[in-house]
Amino acid sequence: MRQTTDALIIRENNNIGEADRFVTALTREFGVVRASARGARSIKSRASSATQLLSYSRLTLYRGREKYIIDDAEPLRVFFELRADIEKLALAQYFCELAGVLAPREEPAEDFLRLMLNALHFLGNGKRDPRQVKAVTELRMLALAGFMPDLLACAGCGAFEGEEMWFSLQEGLLLCGRCRAARPQTGLTPMPGNVLAAMRHIVYSPFESCFSFTMADEGLSRLSRQTEGFLLAQLGRGFKTLDFYHSLDPRRLYAYPGEEAGGNPSASGGGTAPGAGEGAGAERGADEEERPAEC
Ligand SMILES: [Zn+2]
Repeated sequence: MRQTTDALIIRENNNIGEADRFVTALTREFGVVRASARGARSIKSRASSATQLLSYSRLTLYRGREKYIIDDAEPLRVFFELRADIEKLALAQYFCELAGVLAPREEPAEDFLRLMLNALHFLGNGKRDPRQVKAVTELRMLALAGFMPDLLACAGCGAFEGEEMWFSLQEGLLLCGRCRAARPQTGLTPMPGNVLAAMRHIVYSPFESCFSFTMADEGLSRLSRQTEGFLLAQLGRGFKTLDFYHSLDPRRLYAYPGEEAGGNPSASGGGTAPGAGEGAGAERGADEEERPAEC
């Protein structure tokens, strides 16, 4: 059967020496699919740019026995701007690897596709710090995939906030300082107030505003490490693309907040930067209307 769907190409697979291009695509209707595009590596082929990594395209698919065959591909948006910046490209490839693991197969994946397109859009236009785009993408995609943390209140006493808050990366829940002292347990990481506010915004705000908040530089680094620590603990695995992203700047070497990587000059204080606490509210960005029209 011939079907048309919009899709983001999230991986090019093993294409050496073949005229055809084999890809993994995140489609709106069928989730993650593996597909081949006949002759797509020919420069003359219209499908050539539409089936490259990070191309958002309208695909016409035939369903084969084991995989889909791309009969036609029309580019809708190619995120060329990401290819000019190695850090942004590394993050984009990490988001693609995450989507390949977390998005459903043979089921609609509209929300995943929308999240990915917005993430690439904000990464490309430079109006959001890459760490912020990373944190939103990690946490929101985890929530979509069923790994929703409980950030509403302390799991012990129901306090919304406290002088100290702690987060269990494994269980995805909060404990205030008192409850932590009463029920000592391992695997808790500090949850500074501004990081908690940002994570609440990411998880609980409507999709339209989940990328829109402001945060000071120090807070963004901690936020990015916190969402990453939660993601790695929940999924129990690493990601090559994430390792590559960190290899570009050793100061970003993976560490949980409170267990800073050695030699990280920004980690010496350990506290929250002055003024960072106010920043993580739901400040609506002026460029919300700039989201890709199809999102
Ligand atoms: Zn408590």
